[in-house]
Amino acid sequence: MPRNKEPSFRKSVDMMFDKAVGLLNLSPGLEEKIRVCNSTYTVRFGVKLRGDIHTFTGYRSVHSEHKEPVKGGIRFATSVNQDEVEALAALMTYKCALVEAPFGGSKGGLHIDPNAWEADELERITRRFAFELIKRDLIHPSQNVPAPDMGTGEREMAWIADQFRRMNTTEIDSEACVTGKPLNKGGIAGRVEATGRGVQYALQEFFRHPDDVKIANMTGTLDGKRIIVQGLGNVGYHAAKFLAEEDGALITAVIERDGAVINDKGLDIEELSGHIRANAGVKGFKGGEYVKNGSAVLEKECDILIPAAMEGVINMDNADRIKTKLIIEAANGPVTAGADEILHKAGVVIIPDMYANAGGVTVSYFEWVKNLSHIRFGRMQRRQEEASNILLIQEMERLVGKPVSEEFKTKFFQGAGELELVRSGLEDTMRTSYQSMQYVWHSRDDVDSLRTAAYLVSLGRVADSYKALGL
Ligand code: GLU
Repeated sequence: MPRNKEPSFRKSVDMMFDKAVGLLNLSPGLEEKIRVCNSTYTVRFGVKLRGDIHTFTGYRSVHSEHKEPVKGGIRFATSVNQDEVEALAALMTYKCALVEAPFGGSKGGLHIDPNAWEADELERITRRFAFELIKRDLIHPSQNVPAPDMGTGEREMAWIADQFRRMNTTEIDSEACVTGKPLNKGGIAGRVEATGRGVQYALQEFFRHPDDVKIANMTGTLDGKRIIVQGLGNVGYHAAKFLAEEDGALITAVIERDGAVINDKGLDIEELSGHIRANAGVKGFKGGEYVKNGSAVLEKECDILIPAAMEGVINMDNADRIKTKLIIEAANGPVTAGADEILHKAGVVIIPDMYANAGGVTVSYFEWVKNLSHIRFGRMQRRQEEASNILLIQEMERLVGKPVSEEFKTKFFQGAGELELVRSGLEDTMRTSYQSMQYVWHSRDDVDSLRTAAYLVSLGRVADSYKALGL
């Protein structure tokens, strides 16, 4: 069936929802309440740039308020539209419930090509968009807490947090209005790597279950497994790096916008990432063979495929040509509902997005708690004041008689204690969430996939929460 027959992203998420919700025996009214997006705010605002007024369209969608605040990233991309934002907001509801992050689901987006603007222009656009959302409590520590997503990062979150603080000068919890901030602006150690780290922990947990590995037609551990990564952005880069450097996996291909690079012996991710930054693409990378047709590489044989960029990259057009054993959805919605069925029939196991990429929101939760408690994680007393850190560095220098190493300083300022706590909290979350999902997968005859199991666990929790509210 041609691609244009494929339902929209929102419809695709709803189809997966429908398949699972039917197994829960909820009342039709409750089913509908969970399915629908509660609201989507659309704003068009003008910013005077380069001598003329430019109009931008932005959205913030709230899918479910069964818990508040609601949570979800803000995306800057040209793909952004209402359908996409609503699909992503729904996934946030299910994701938070699955990993027990106590939030409802939300998502925002700005229709923009972030590469088309200079940093100071982007700052003005971001602050203006944030202003519109703050005015309507769509950014607020107890109502709605955004985070980074595609096209945004620490820098944008710092602008948003500052904008909120300027508009709410007496709000003591203003830092908690957004997560994914830089460390020196109330962020938490390990947030940047969190989603990729979560993908690594998810795969490690999968490989701790030999019966599941067998279902995916594999044996053994991650060591030596051939992995193809689509998209070496923040999520793909960290996942690939950790899996290659710490688990012995071989990243045999990386697909980017301008093509792909292949190396059956395993790519050096650090070098490749440096090359991409310097050359805006993979072309010319010496450590692998360049192939212009990236989509053909997505169909190359491998053990594990990690789509880590956009939704819908594995669809009804190419699903029957995908030659992997296991797909882990590091992106949101990379496999469409139609492709999911085709792959399932072909025996490919899929570790679903709502679990696989939940590392980001899990660590966002730690950051939010840290901001509300106004105290650092880890060894708090010694590290609470930056000033006392500087004194301690000076003390070290006195003791060893030379400047402390950069590595020591980074660890020290980033709070090694905090990073350890964040990683262990994330690992614990990824392990227990896998186990609850996997238990349902194997214990019910009517549950045929990890995705349906994930929906059952998550929807069960959202339903219980709505029931307790008395709706
Ligand atoms: N944008 C990320 C996601 O899709 C993170 C959301 C958050 O931390 O709130 O899960």
